[in-house]
Amino acid sequence: MIVTIDGPAGSGKSSAARLLAARLGFDYLDTGAMYRAVALALTRRGVDFADLPAVEAVLAGVQIEMPPGHVFLNGEDVSGAIRSPGVSQGASKVAVIPAVRRFLAAAQRRVATGRSIVCEGRDQGTVVFPDAGCKFFLTADPRVRAERRYHELVVKGETVTLHDVLTAQEERDARDASRELGPMHPADDAVIVDTTHLTTDAVLARLEEVVRRCPTART
Ligand code: C5P
Repeated sequence: MIVTIDGPAGSGKSSAARLLAARLGFDYLDTGAMYRAVALALTRRGVDFADLPAVEAVLAGVQIEMPPGHVFLNGEDVSGAIRSPGVSQGASKVAVIPAVRRFLAAAQRRVATGRSIVCEGRDQGTVVFPDAGCKFFLTADPRVRAERRYHELVVKGETVTLHDVLTAQEERDARDASRELGPMHPADDAVIVDTTHLTTDAVLARLEEVVRRCPTART
């Protein structure tokens, strides 16, 4: 069974997806990490994202492996490198490129085939797994989302202001919601959860309750 969790940055979907997968005994796929790894690969090669032949040439040599808790790009552990604010913006820029979306959607389907898995991203319930057994869209007030992200970055030792985080988030949300292919929006059959006033535990409880009621759940 596939469970999809889509939503914007800071909506709490990553923690919820990881914890829900653990609670259900499912695998977990963080598809944002795949877009981040591609952005890192292109940036390191100095590729202009508008140069489609160059983007496709790099994609042909990209191998992403994601053992639990890690992301490997062509054999190198890039788990930390892909979390910088620069890579966050880069990921949302490469995510508008149809060749990148096709490449990663195919990889995501290969990973999920035959598994019980929670897949987290922006287009999992709408485009990649339209027949998923259970779909969620998490959302929250933009300022609260930015505050969550700001605290994460401060804990990691980044020097940022809340204003910078909010501005970057607005840019990323606008790009993610307006692109032609796989724009961020809830699937018609997704359960929408507003996490603004919910703790992680409360979000998890709500998601688990819905999944366990889902007719195709084999938990
Ligand atoms: O979720 P995360 O912040 O790691 O995602 C980084 C970026 O990757 C997003 O801003 C979005 O542009 C892109 N993305 C996407 N589709 C997904 C997952 C992420 O376009 N399924």
